[in-house]
Amino acid sequence: MNQLPTRVDAVVVGAGLAGLAAARQIKSHGRSVIVIEAQDGVGGRVRTDKVDGFLLDRGFQVLLTAYPELKTQIDMSALDLQMFSSGALVMRDGKASVVTDPFREPRRAAATIFAPIGSLSDKLRIAALRWRVMHREEGKILDGIDISTVVALRSMGFSTTMIDRFFRPLFGGIQLDPELRTSRRMFEIIFKYLSEGQSALPTNGMSAIPEQMAKHLGAENIFLDTRATNIEPGFVSTVNARIETKAIVVATDQPSVSELLRTTEIASRVAGCVYFSADTPPTHEKFVVLDGTGQGPVLNAAVLTNVAPSYAPPGKHLIVAALPGIITGDLETMSRDQLRTWWGPQVDAWSHIKTYRITHAGPEQLPPFNPKQIVSLGNGMFVCGDHRDTGSIQGALYSGRRCGDAVLAHLS
Ligand SMILES: Cc1cc2nc3c(=O)[nH]c(=O)nc-3n(C[C@H](O)[C@H](O)[C@H](O)COP(=O)(O)OP(=O)(O)OC[C@H]3O[C@@H](n4cnc5c(N)ncnc54)[C@H](O)[C@@H]3O)c2cc1C
Repeated sequence: MNQLPTRVDAVVVGAGLAGLAAARQIKSHGRSVIVIEAQDGVGGRVRTDKVDGFLLDRGFQVLLTAYPELKTQIDMSALDLQMFSSGALVMRDGKASVVTDPFREPRRAAATIFAPIGSLSDKLRIAALRWRVMHREEGKILDGIDISTVVALRSMGFSTTMIDRFFRPLFGGIQLDPELRTSRRMFEIIFKYLSEGQSALPTNGMSAIPEQMAKHLGAENIFLDTRATNIEPGFVSTVNARIETKAIVVATDQPSVSELLRTTEIASRVAGCVYFSADTPPTHEKFVVLDGTGQGPVLNAAVLTNVAPSYAPPGKHLIVAALPGIITGDLETMSRDQLRTWWGPQVDAWSHIKTYRITHAGPEQLPPFNPKQIVSLGNGMFVCGDHRDTGSIQGALYSGRRCGDAVLAHLS
């Protein structure tokens, strides 16, 4: 491993997407910067484990291609994205109903109209909501009076059936919040991105995103297995080094920020995730599969190999079950019990590959929620991460870039 420098313009603590984005911005303007990362790899919450030829993202995640930061920060063609179908497969009473965006999948519009997820008025309201968010700038969506997602959906006139059978499994899954308590601003911005783009997986797993960013930064500037134990203006300490610097960027997850900067901790959302291998896929659809009861514990699932065959060795299929809000108990049995009600006894023949219990999957973003929080703390100290913007890949990338700009202004 490279020797840590004793002096550098900027030290970034944390090699998640936010830290990598900040470091790249600083480096691209000719400043010296290093990233120190406590774990044995880059990516933070966006990492992929390779297990017996399967690619297991650490928690079911997707990349929304409409995220604005991707245009400038990521070489999208190098990710070789594999696309989910637009819409969802809703499972209820052992039956599957296809719900698609009729503007993008007119072929399946009739199926959507008759899907038992809500009334025709509910479906027309979805079309109206889609039109509204697509014609609204992000800044306007992230402004104005804020309420929880569930209250917002009720005030828009959606029925309880529609909320429980569609919005709860879809957005409860995306926002890791089965109760839909998250800010309406977050809900609408995600709904906008879903309407404008597609959900995708990189061929080599979600970790291809941070790995690409790390490559641009240069391995010589990234120090893995190196935890920051103390920070003070002008100095970052690790177990066996003290680095002098003009700027410190704390780009850790929110609980670690509270520890390092001794600030108040925001509550975390937790998430469970179980991976199974099957010889035969339970469906050939490329949709995210939703729990149409809205009760969980598995709120959504997917046959990932239908979307990205590279996620499994030849002849095998990879199924993911996502349990937002649940990390205790026998997640494998809970998942099998529920998926059996969808797909029958074939579920018992599946092999369990791995279970993830993620204690900090994201920060709570309850109303009133204010994205774009300050990144400059004074005295050459900066902070970035998804907790400073929206709890998403977009939020982490954006937060890191604007924090990098703040560091550059401080250094100039
Ligand atoms: C299960 C799950 C599903 C998700 N699904 C989606 C999705 O579908 N779409 C989407 O857009 N987003 C999703 N997200 C959210 C997204 O992954 C995060 O918002 C984003 O990755 C956060 O990046 P970050 O850089 O802010 O933080 P992190 O990725 O947490 O990076 C922080 C880094 O700091 C390091 N660190 C901490 N303390 C120290 C220390 N003392 N010294 C050195 N290093 C330290 C950590 O090891 C970590 O690598 C999901 C997250 C999870 C967990």
